[in-house]
Amino acid sequence: MPRRITHFETHDIRFPTSLTGDGSDAMNTDCDYSSAYVTIFTDGDEPLVGHGMTFTIGRGTDIVCQAIAALANRLVGLNPEDLFKNMGKAYDYVSADSQLRWIGPEKGVIHIAAGAVNNALWDMFARSRGKPLWKLVVDMTPEKLVDATVFRYITDALTPEEALAMLKAREEGKKEREAIVRKDGYPAYITSAGWLGYSDEKVARLTKEAVAAGFNHFKMKVGADLASDLRRGRVIRSIIDDPQFLLQGSQGLDPDSPALQGKNAGPTGAVLMIDANQIWDVPQAIQYVKDLSEIKPWFIEEPTAPDDILGHAAIRRALKPYGIGVATGEHAHNRMVFKQLLQADAIDVCQIDSCRLAGVSEVLSVLLLAAKFGVPVCPHAGGVGLCEYVVHLSAIDYIAISGTMERNVLEFADHLHEHFLYPSSINSKGRYNVPLNPAEGYSIEMHKQSIAEYEWPNGSYWMNRRNNGN
Ligand SMILES: [Mg+2]
Repeated sequence: MPRRITHFETHDIRFPTSLTGDGSDAMNTDCDYSSAYVTIFTDGDEPLVGHGMTFTIGRGTDIVCQAIAALANRLVGLNPEDLFKNMGKAYDYVSADSQLRWIGPEKGVIHIAAGAVNNALWDMFARSRGKPLWKLVVDMTPEKLVDATVFRYITDALTPEEALAMLKAREEGKKEREAIVRKDGYPAYITSAGWLGYSDEKVARLTKEAVAAGFNHFKMKVGADLASDLRRGRVIRSIIDDPQFLLQGSQGLDPDSPALQGKNAGPTGAVLMIDANQIWDVPQAIQYVKDLSEIKPWFIEEPTAPDDILGHAAIRRALKPYGIGVATGEHAHNRMVFKQLLQADAIDVCQIDSCRLAGVSEVLSVLLLAAKFGVPVCPHAGGVGLCEYVVHLSAIDYIAISGTMERNVLEFADHLHEHFLYPSSINSKGRYNVPLNPAEGYSIEMHKQSIAEYEWPNGSYWMNRRNNGN
């Protein structure tokens, strides 16, 4: 008897990060990093399990869990092997309920819920083959990988045939690239030093720690107050540009090296990025970032509304003479938005989100689009579970799709990793370790104890807090 998907569970898990200011930025002032989490089960002598989640920041996680249940329900009774045969079709099936489609389509709550479900299926697929997710994908033939990708609505920019030709061209050197990234890790940058809610002292301390840990790309939140942004930016630059704080024995990077071209690197090769989390209108964004040009950022991230493709293009044109680029994507709600950002020359850096896009299948579409347009992908990972996810996606991009990681940097935020069975980690050179455990799938399985403690509203943490009157 083939296995069937029998049932699923959802969990609304909220961590009280608003108490410490972790994750605070110009728009999101009191985030409780949260996870709308789903586990899918099969029957059989050796039953399979798949874990998935999408990231949220507190209130509303219950709504996402309801949407996840509505979509996951479509999978009950199906044979998972039929889904694994063509993961692009599996994506279409989950997102094509003709009534649920009305509350999207492919955007908002229903889409991030589809992301959790698609990611859970990929996790189950990888576990069933005894491989971490990235390895499952890079071992696929180009034909299989094209089948796993969503092409609907993007064929004006990229057809399956073109994607196949790109992937075939990348076959050469795949083994070498896999060996390199396993050994050296994937380049990372750190955001944890520059949250808006931190004092200057805390920013300085965390920046020094990050430099000592081997990082050379740093990101700071901006947009609430120009004077304060300039002050914090100077604090960070004064540390990252000063050789005395470098990792013992490190000379820093050559600011003229190809990897740092156009990044406004300082004398030690350190790069600063700034992130406004959508706070400005277009003219305001241009003026504000010009006023910050003395701190020499590589790019401004999310300068305006995430749906405003032409607005991003206008900001990019206006900032070009200042040598400052534009990055966005963590709130780009589907592959069509990325397609247009690329077609409109609106971005220098493509910041996919592992669960705002509806899972690995749609991420593959955007990785392929970005490779075609020659724009580096630097995934968003400021949140819970996102670092665990994105290292897989960047490894896929490097090994099988773009073939390069020289200019890429993957976000790392040092929060909440202890809740995962297979937490992401950084090596002594400030780079992500590639996940190697054959049992870890997509690395998103959470400890049962963490779920019991932080499930909203009746987990032990939240019960205790209520009982203590706050
Ligand atoms: Mg951001």
